[in-house]
Amino acid sequence: MGFVGISRDITERKRAEVVLRESEELYRTLVETSPDAITLTDLDFTILMVNRRALALYGCERVEEMLGRSAFAFVAPEDQQRATANAQQILTLGGVSNIEYTLLKQDGTRFPAELSATAIRDAEGKPKAFIGMVRDITACKQAAEELLQAKEAAEAANRAKSEFLSTMSHELRTPISVILGYGSLLLEGMLGGLSEKQTHSLRLINNSAKELCDLITAVLDVSRLEAGRLPLEMHMVEVSTLLEEIKAETEAERERVDLTYTWTIQGDLPPLHTDPSKLKIVLKNLIRNAVKFTEEGNITVEAQDCRGGIEFRVVDTGIGIPAEALELIFEPFLRIGTVTSDQRKGTGLGLYIVKRLLALLGGTITVESKLGSGSTFRVWVPREHSTSLNVSSNAVP
Ligand code: ADP
Repeated sequence: MGFVGISRDITERKRAEVVLRESEELYRTLVETSPDAITLTDLDFTILMVNRRALALYGCERVEEMLGRSAFAFVAPEDQQRATANAQQILTLGGVSNIEYTLLKQDGTRFPAELSATAIRDAEGKPKAFIGMVRDITACKQAAEELLQAKEAAEAANRAKSEFLSTMSHELRTPISVILGYGSLLLEGMLGGLSEKQTHSLRLINNSAKELCDLITAVLDVSRLEAGRLPLEMHMVEVSTLLEEIKAETEAERERVDLTYTWTIQGDLPPLHTDPSKLKIVLKNLIRNAVKFTEEGNITVEAQDCRGGIEFRVVDTGIGIPAEALELIFEPFLRIGTVTSDQRKGTGLGLYIVKRLLALLGGTITVESKLGSGSTFRVWVPREHSTSLNVSSNAVP
């Protein structure tokens, strides 16, 4: 009689199939090219799927060598219990990441690895499988171990250097003291009269010996600081007493130059719990520098209550410091200007020692300066410093 034809447009279905195929292809490629080993297991940890990297990592040649086996077969015996606990965690938390295990290859070789795992859920949200990603961290561990060894070796070398410097400076100081002592005796005429030329030469010898002695003392201080051999001796101190002592102890050097001095304490300052002798070294160094680098004008030393501590300011009207050198002056042996352009004596260690001492005291130092119109050094020390944070001054950057 004839035919009945029913036709249906399946363009949409075909398109959906293509999209699905493409999406599957994309995920397969992602899994296969992943640098991590990817393993899919059921809830009993039976392996259902592995990627190429997993085969290589566990030393297998074919997928069949892994499929159907328990994932626990590849976990070192001592880590099995932890792995079981972690599996429980995956179920409750949904996943775990970067857990370190010792895993086993097919031939029993052990290797350190990092595992991240997630639970896969069905449409109703019930867990139905686990997906685990494993990364071999042997190289990472080795690098960390090598780095640690290198750090320990560097620290040992640094300690040896500090010990050497400390011993050497100590040994050098003795003969120099003899040179200085006899030089002074000669200059004072205790050992007979000298001609003008001889006195001039002797003065040069004595000045250089004094410079050398200062340098050696500074190197000795630095090596002690770096070796952590300057323990803190904390006391309660009144700021006014501290400044009075500094004033007296710097008088001789200050009197030598024609400058005016202002000492100000703003308000009633609470006592400080600090190491006064170290704080004095810091402030005396700054005052000595201010005197050294100021031709005329005024030097002001101020103290005021500030941010839970005391701020000391040493302000001069001296030559100033170029902006690009402000950070550098705290580095060891750094001096601005050359030997010929700047005849002021120094070791270039003063501010480095200041910085390290302040780190020990839990304090800070900052500087503002304008070339030609003076510098302001601000030292802040806490009212109370927890010394337990300073077991060794080596912790100072
Ligand atoms: P030194 O004074 O022995 O050279 P420091 O470490 O104390 O070493 O100082 C480093 C450099 O910082 C000095 O050589 C100087 O150039 C600069 N400097 C320090 N204090 C001042 C200051 N108050 N005014 C100008 N320059 C300064």
